[in-house]
Amino acid sequence: QYLKDESAASAQEVDGGAMGSFPLTKQILSVCQANSLWPMTFGLACCAIEMMASGMARIDMARYGAEVFRPSARQCDLLIVSGTVTKKMAPALMTLYEQMPSPKWVIAMGNCAISGGPFKVEENYNVIEGVDQLIPVDVYIPGCPPRPEALIEGILKLQEKIAGKRHPWPQRKFKKETKIHPIP
Ligand code: SF4
Repeated sequence: QYLKDESAASAQEVDGGAMGSFPLTKQILSVCQANSLWPMTFGLACCAIEMMASGMARIDMARYGAEVFRPSARQCDLLIVSGTVTKKMAPALMTLYEQMPSPKWVIAMGNCAISGGPFKVEENYNVIEGVDQLIPVDVYIPGCPPRPEALIEGILKLQEKIAGKRHPWPQRKFKKETKIHPIP
């Protein structure tokens, strides 16, 4: 509600003036929300495998405050649509989105979620050609599938959208060469 309402007068009504000026309150809440995103445990197709890889040790989405995948829509504020949205799945997806408390955000991950991807054909009878035909989308991540690094970039882009600016995160240094141990 803070994010959606731009008027300072309304902010005074919301917090009763107890938390100071609206821009500062909004800024603090926005930074907190941006850095504690809770995505839904919701995968639709192959892109979901890359989403799962993003939570594993090598990529480690937890570094960006967005690793707490929740099994209930009631506990989520981020829906990552990772995969093909079929017409049969569309009502379930919309119900899940409606069950999420506000404020909430959506990432369309992969070409299928963006436009139908490889299923965008002339006689398409079962695939929704873009999840934004069903629910509002905040960030689009193209690829078939996008790599986990692309999903991380999408999360950072969303954080930038919520908080108004991108916050510097510590960079993880990877070893340039991975040592492969020979099989004895
Ligand atoms: Fe699979 Fe490609 Fe569609 Fe992702 S975009 S769900 S990888 S076909």
